[in-house]
Amino acid sequence: MSFSEIIGQERPVRILQSSLKKGDVSHAYLFYGPEGIGKRLTALNFAKAMNCLSLDDNSCGECIHCKKFDNENFPDFSVVEPADGNIKIEVIRELQRKISYRPYEGKFKVIFIHGAEEMTLGAANSFLKTLEEPPGATVFILVCHNFNLLLPTIISRCQKIQFNLIPVKTIKNILIKEKQITPEDAHLMASYSQGRLGKALEMGVRDIMKMRNEILNLMQSVSFDEMDLIFKKNKAWSSDKENLEIILASILNIVRDMVVLKGTKNEKLIANLDVKDKLISLIRVSNINQLIFLFYSIEETIRHFKRNINAQLLLDTLMIKMCSVFEK
Ligand SMILES: [Zn+2]
Repeated sequence: MSFSEIIGQERPVRILQSSLKKGDVSHAYLFYGPEGIGKRLTALNFAKAMNCLSLDDNSCGECIHCKKFDNENFPDFSVVEPADGNIKIEVIRELQRKISYRPYEGKFKVIFIHGAEEMTLGAANSFLKTLEEPPGATVFILVCHNFNLLLPTIISRCQKIQFNLIPVKTIKNILIKEKQITPEDAHLMASYSQGRLGKALEMGVRDIMKMRNEILNLMQSVSFDEMDLIFKKNKAWSSDKENLEIILASILNIVRDMVVLKGTKNEKLIANLDVKDKLISLIRVSNINQLIFLFYSIEETIRHFKRNINAQLLLDTLMIKMCSVFEK
């Protein structure tokens, strides 16, 4: 692993490499942006590069520090992650004890806090004291999706580095290369990944097609008369926490195509070209304003879902809106 393997995050990588080269590393960084776009990978490589014995602004992969890092036994690197949904004050106290010693081997002791927004208020206040008087030769890398959930006093003491979604075209090209799939399949997967390369590499094209069929069948059959069946389906989907985000993103992706088809009638602009006949038959009964309304409702559902609002309730509300758009 080196900086050159991080794809689609040229700006953050450039900033970090430049501070390494100048020997001007901050005592705390805040990496923020959506999930699955390379924040963790960048943080790991930054920590490794900071302590590399051969290179100034990257990791060589060959020196004793890089090797220990890759084998996960470099003594001056610690990871803090939420357990049972949060980072408790005891964990921060343990961290404070650890950083009271000088680095054992490395130039820097690096503390990687993944999911920093999950610190409890007590933990965050305690951590703030550490940031106010940072120990020498220690670098904190905080990673979060939504920095608005952090204390403003923590945010202001970190150098903020924003990570952005990766363009669909970039993901498509990587998928063609890495997975040896057709450009059509790669385009479909890239558009479903919503700019998250990590997700795109994890997904299988068959899984996407299966899920898409389920969604299209549901759209074809939604009806106020059969709400009980829909609620049952929602129950199953909402308990599948792992995939719910991708299910919602898929619904959004399909409705986006419907808006485009209805509005422009240009098939070239849609991601789900292979099922365009189904899409056309579905939008025959609805008008563009209804489809745009549905699109925004799905976006809103995704936002609420990220704030941990009851998933089944959100899906039920969304399906009622879907009924009003698709019921014949
Ligand atoms: Zn090295």
